Amino acid sequence: MRMIDLRSDTVTKPGDAMRQAMLEAEVGDDVYGEDPTVNRLQKLAAEMADKEAALFVPTGTQGNLLAILAHCQRGEEYIAGQQAHCYRYEAGGAAVFGGVQPQPIEFEDDGRLDLTKVAAMIKPDDDHFAITRLICLENTQGGKALPLDYQSDAAAFAREYGLRLHLDGARVFNAAVRQQVQLSEITRYYDSISFCLSKGLGSPVGSILVGSREFIERAHRWRKMAGGGMRQVGILAAAGIYALKHNVVRLAEDHQNARRLAKGLCNIEGLDVELDKVDTNMVFVSMALEKQPQLVNSLKEQGILIGGYGQLRLVTHHDIVADDVPVVVEAFEKAVAGL
Ligand SMILES: *Cc1c(COP(=O)(O)O)cnc(C)c1O
Repeated sequence: MRMIDLRSDTVTKPGDAMRQAMLEAEVGDDVYGEDPTVNRLQKLAAEMADKEAALFVPTGTQGNLLAILAHCQRGEEYIAGQQAHCYRYEAGGAAVFGGVQPQPIEFEDDGRLDLTKVAAMIKPDDDHFAITRLICLENTQGGKALPLDYQSDAAAFAREYGLRLHLDGARVFNAAVRQQVQLSEITRYYDSISFCLSKGLGSPVGSILVGSREFIERAHRWRKMAGGGMRQVGILAAAGIYALKHNVVRLAEDHQNARRLAKGLCNIEGLDVELDKVDTNMVFVSMALEKQPQLVNSLKEQGILIGGYGQLRLVTHHDIVADDVPVVVEAFEKAVAGL
């Protein structure tokens, strides 16, 4: 039985054309800078983001880690969302490797960090405090694309306070497609951006970090230290190039499928679907906590996988087709009726 896997957009598997590109990749030793496919991927990514340089890294987690370490010194801090991946879901890496302290702040409902609240957290020049150096935003955040004018305000704010601005853009292409803008219309506001090739874009492995040449040189040293200097990794870079060239525009289908899914689910009694929060490829469903394990199991028996902690989360992606949507809605109806 084919499973309809809505747990995350990380579950995509490379198709034949992507595998063919990987098979044919020209490779060399990337620690010597001699892998032509990695060099091509980095050049393409830097061009798309309109930044001086790019670095291919194994994971988004490492991309964020290198960014924080390249921006901040020991005893400095970065401000990030309480639920931000780079604070909550990266095992405290910046503190462990860099002695860099996080300062979390609650996200607003739409994924912004309120700049007034950020201002209140910036530490005065006083020996008692860590030195505030960096603000990290996330886009998309919980599936919501950050408004462009907010990102512009955040960039002006960071400049005013002499802070750097990093974007955890694991799904920034979902935001760009949603807002019908080029990637560079978003990346222009940031000193650095990390984004995943391995989520909606469908690569098996890999993320990209972009920024100024000098920033990427510092990140490159940290990548080596973190054990991320890879060798004939053009095989994976080839998948990344394929993803950037072929899988960006089609993200709109994922967004459409998510919307249709949410519309179908919101008619089911006992489920609470926040329709207005479905902005890109994620649908969040609330329901009585004690009934969730039974629901998840019943869906699994019907060939559908979903995830969530507290709230159920359904993520559409490359390997979900429009015809899956009514199948999922029907399975939910059946599962909820049986609770
Ligand atoms: C997935 C994700 C990352 C990076 O994840 P990896 O699994 O390390 O590639 C970073 N930030 C956000 C918001 C993510 O969703």
